[in-house]
Amino acid sequence: MRSFLDVPADSPFPIQNLPYGVFSRDDGSDPAIGVRIGDQVLDLAVLEERGLLDAALKGVRVFNQPTLNAFMARGRLVWQAVRARLQDLLSAEGDPALREDDELRDVALVSVAAVTMHLPAAIGDYTDFYSSRQHATNVGTMFRGPEKALMPNWLHLPVGYHGRASSVLISGTDIVRPKGQQKPEDAPPLFGPSKLLDIELELGFFVGPGNDIGTPITMAEAPDHIFGFVLVNDWSARDIQKWEYVPLGPFLGKNFATSISPWVVPYDALAPFRIEGEPQTPEAGNPEPLPYLRQDEPRSLDLTLDVLLDSAAMREANTEPARVARSNACYLYWSPEQQLVHHTVNGCNARPGDLMASGTISGETPDSYGSFLELTWRGSKPITLPSGEERKFLQDGDRVVLTGHADSEDADGPYRVGFGEVEGVVRPARGG
Ligand code: MN
Repeated sequence: MRSFLDVPADSPFPIQNLPYGVFSRDDGSDPAIGVRIGDQVLDLAVLEERGLLDAALKGVRVFNQPTLNAFMARGRLVWQAVRARLQDLLSAEGDPALREDDELRDVALVSVAAVTMHLPAAIGDYTDFYSSRQHATNVGTMFRGPEKALMPNWLHLPVGYHGRASSVLISGTDIVRPKGQQKPEDAPPLFGPSKLLDIELELGFFVGPGNDIGTPITMAEAPDHIFGFVLVNDWSARDIQKWEYVPLGPFLGKNFATSISPWVVPYDALAPFRIEGEPQTPEAGNPEPLPYLRQDEPRSLDLTLDVLLDSAAMREANTEPARVARSNACYLYWSPEQQLVHHTVNGCNARPGDLMASGTISGETPDSYGSFLELTWRGSKPITLPSGEERKFLQDGDRVVLTGHADSEDADGPYRVGFGEVEGVVRPARGG
């Protein structure tokens, strides 16, 4: 399939993707919902207003608003109908209603250079999992030794914790270095700016209709409740985390900032990239999950994920960001479906717009680790940047960019589906 619009060959936003986002035009108009195609945004509020989405939406308006929550709540049949309708309107051979209407194209299409992106949803709750085996093994090895790297529960359930929704930030928001309590080895606790500021490379998803309290989402139902995916950078202050986390887990070392990419890639757009994943079978040396967590269809995703970094000095010298890690979503042991099913199995209610993230995704080799904690092995193996600067953890002025993409092809040739990026610059702690 090809669009009648110009889409650069290497664009991660071809007609096969069509991710949703909330944008406002630089003319000051109210935020609205759009889909990204190439370097343009198609304004769905305009299409909806003109009645072009009536059949797909069954007449219910969901796009002339500043969040995707109402659309997320409609469920998978409506998502699929809208997606099919948009592909029809944007394709080179489909319905000419947009393609052959100069005035409508003028109003409904806007360059990405002329918009500001906003959080895609009002996020009621944010949950972070811990689903990459290599990451859990690396962290366990550092803190408990290789013998006890994985805790006994890890291969039986997707470990997670409740994060903080209020500090989920749209890509491009500055990250102020957090202050907090730290505990030096042989000295009393002190208070000050974190010295071990880190990132976590994660894949997140937004919940669709969700479930009533007391009624779990089953594995068979899970795809009906996963609206789409974003990249997540779970900024982490390792020194604050280390001192505070016993016994209840992450708190102020995590909840100061979590950045997400602005374009929500639909669940169905990632279907071509489904792969089997690590077998959860005794034959493969893994325990079989309890029945409620068993997933028969391919549960993994072949998605390349990159971590890029540039320092203030590098930007000054116009040096390209350095790629410090390349990972892949296939390294997740627990799938998004398993995360959601486990989250609700006790009757906990998930709601439209809830955000759930995978946990740091680390591959098997040291250049595929998704955090500086692992990449520099607690700072013992610093990374050298193209500028000659060394990094153990993040310095003020550093900019971190996470990207993700997957390649496929159809009858018309190869295409790429991607997320764009989630980025943020570290700013000095307030008040020194
Ligand atoms: Mn995390």
